[in-house]
Amino acid sequence: MTIAEPLLQEVDEQRREIVALAREFAQKEIAPRAAEWDRTKQYPAEVMRQLGELGFYGLRIPEEYDGLGLDTLTYMMVLEEIAAADASVSISLSVHNSLPVSMLLAHGTVEQKERWLRPMARGEVLAAFSLSEADSGSDAASLRARAVRDGDAWVLAGEKAWVTNGDTAELLMVMVRTDTPEDWRGRRGISAFLIPAGTPGVEPGKPEDKLGLRASRTTTLMLNDVRLGDEHLLGEEGEGYMYALRALDNGRMGVAAQAVGIARAAFEHARQYSGERQQFERPIKEFQAIQFKLADMVTRITAARTLMYEAARAEDRGDPVAELASMAKLFASETAMWVTTQAVQLFGGYGYMRDYPVERLFRDAKVTEIYEGTSEIQRIVIARGLYSE
Ligand SMILES: Cc1cc2nc3c(=O)[nH]c(=O)nc-3n(C[C@H](O)[C@H](O)[C@H](O)COP(=O)(O)OP(=O)(O)OC[C@H]3O[C@@H](n4cnc5c(N)ncnc54)[C@H](O)[C@@H]3O)c2cc1C
Repeated sequence: MTIAEPLLQEVDEQRREIVALAREFAQKEIAPRAAEWDRTKQYPAEVMRQLGELGFYGLRIPEEYDGLGLDTLTYMMVLEEIAAADASVSISLSVHNSLPVSMLLAHGTVEQKERWLRPMARGEVLAAFSLSEADSGSDAASLRARAVRDGDAWVLAGEKAWVTNGDTAELLMVMVRTDTPEDWRGRRGISAFLIPAGTPGVEPGKPEDKLGLRASRTTTLMLNDVRLGDEHLLGEEGEGYMYALRALDNGRMGVAAQAVGIARAAFEHARQYSGERQQFERPIKEFQAIQFKLADMVTRITAARTLMYEAARAEDRGDPVAELASMAKLFASETAMWVTTQAVQLFGGYGYMRDYPVERLFRDAKVTEIYEGTSEIQRIVIARGLYSE
């Protein structure tokens, strides 16, 4: 049995080749450098540029806009391959492809699509998604950054938090209020704006110093009276939050794929080490306690991947996916945390050392239980579905 094989027979030959390319590039160009990027907090700019050239910024962009036009299932397989090499690279790609790309495809005008999707597909534009603020994370609809009308223009002001790709993206998809304190419309008072990086008044902060994903950039984003024309508003005024929620279904599956990739990497290291490490004059893999640990790891990873595929297939069929996407993210992220904890245990003292790979995977796994909705928020979405008509 090989854990590294996503169920490739489910996709046609052309798609299989893309997954194979992702695996080859990830294992050759990303995996060998991931530990160093983590140690030095280095953003892998050159590797991101190469991925852009290979078409990985256009994984979900239709062929008519020069993208690869992948279905969700194949896209998830690609993300798992990248995450198995480095979760920092996979989150940069997944935020871009799942969130701004989905929102543009669903709600962009012909002009907005022409302006942004082609350069994205060519790898010239990386995008970020900015919903959270310091005081509004889980309760994202309580955000306070605001856009007000001034003649023909919108003027945006406020401070956004924790923006992945915040200072490396060329395009920022930013959610701000367009209602007023007197006419507060809650989740229907938020609009999405397409902001080119470098627009006067847009200032990313210093990269955050994080527990894991240390090679990915997470920044604040100051909006200091940023003037934008109507061509920067995405879709209908007041609908941006609803657009973001829908895109987050795909984003949550992407985090599930990332979690499966992290868990798979930890499992592979653990299985190999169990054959190398000798105690009591034999390799530790001869102890049944170790075999059972590996058996539980592979079982949970396979279950997490299967659920993630199920959610992806539902999206490909056009079925509603909010609950399935939440289940996939919840189960895969808790699996990644559990599997990486077991992997550190199996490595013993060496598992706790920076010289070995599993402590990085353990640190990287944690955030999958937090971003794009915490595990508690996923349980709320799933439970809500139980009572809705
Ligand atoms: C590395 C990283 C990258 C990120 N990238 C992005 C990005 O690109 N764009 C973006 O917009 N955001 C991003 N985020 C923000 C992320 O989505 C939020 O951190 C997340 O949604 C949780 O919000 P919070 O941190 O404010 O926690 P809080 O909402 O303050 O939650 C604190 C705790 O309370 C729990 N809780 C909250 N409400 C409830 C409830 N109703 N019932 C039960 N428990 C509850 C939570 O589950 C959590 O355990 C990123 C975060 C990190 C760490």
